[in-house]
Amino acid sequence: MKTILVTGGTGFLGSNLCIRLINEGNRVICVDNNYTGRMSNVESILHHPNFRFIEHDICELLDVNDEKIDQIYNMACPASPPAYQGSYSIKTTKTCVFGAINMLELAKKHGATILQTSTSEVYGEPLVHPQVESYRGNVNPDGIRACYDEGKRCAESLFFDYHRHEGVDIKVIRIFNTYGPNMDPNDGRVVSNFICQALSGQDITIYGDGHQTRSFCYVDDLIEAMIRMMNSEKGFTGPVNTGNPGEFTIKELAEMVVEKIGGTSKVVYKDLPSDDPTQRRPDITLAKTKLGWEPKIKLGEGLDKTIAYFKTQINKFKKAM
Ligand code: UDP
Repeated sequence: MKTILVTGGTGFLGSNLCIRLINEGNRVICVDNNYTGRMSNVESILHHPNFRFIEHDICELLDVNDEKIDQIYNMACPASPPAYQGSYSIKTTKTCVFGAINMLELAKKHGATILQTSTSEVYGEPLVHPQVESYRGNVNPDGIRACYDEGKRCAESLFFDYHRHEGVDIKVIRIFNTYGPNMDPNDGRVVSNFICQALSGQDITIYGDGHQTRSFCYVDDLIEAMIRMMNSEKGFTGPVNTGNPGEFTIKELAEMVVEKIGGTSKVVYKDLPSDDPTQRRPDITLAKTKLGWEPKIKLGEGLDKTIAYFKTQINKFKKAM
């Protein structure tokens, strides 16, 4: 039995990972300050004997002395653009940078393998398409997305320096847009917005002309990639792109959601936020080769599962929207 610490464990991805790790018989220490995470996401495992929750902000040092940690998934960070572009901007950079240092120190102390959830945002507005890991990106260091993009880039550099100079066993993945159950209905991302808007009969808000593209990965596929990366051969650090290479315009996504949900919602167009990337699609050759991984769930199927989830949450977001 492994003891696995997950930061950001009550968030969208973190909670899905914690549930899977508990179901596979591991001990899980879930760490979160619940700024954007929600205890309801881990309700089903909260009282499991192998599950432990620590309310903690990883910007502060964390000491776990009573048990030996084997693996750390460092996932804590506000990830929804409205959150990190709003009141959480400075907190986002701090969480990326101080959080990485604190978790790398913890990994060093315990001799644990540590996985960093980096992001496709390190590529910024990409000039290479699809994006390969060797592409160094095109990030505006002064823009409204920079706290997240540069924070995550700095975290990657810290991971590689701790690996080179301190011998820490690191793994780095770059996550592309992911969706599925446990997304916060109010976090402002496109999949949750469109589904919640359609379910509650509100206008579907496309930012810009809707021709920008994203590649959407269903959460179960992503969690599988994370676990494979964590347990990959020693010395293989990545970075590895993890995402679904199926690329859709935001307009196509809106049409799919409207077709699936029906209802009275109409599509409206709003201003495109600055520095919003025009196109994004992962090249996943490395993940296929090194991890034997590729996504299995197509967008239509994943949307059906996600719509079913949000239907169970409808009372919560109707109040808030
Ligand atoms: N978007 C949109 N309507 C919304 C929310 C987002 O058109 O209600 C657009 C957003 O401008 C971006 C894309 O959808 O081009 C993906 O946005 P999201 O916030 O989900 O993730 P990002 O890839 O920007 O981090």
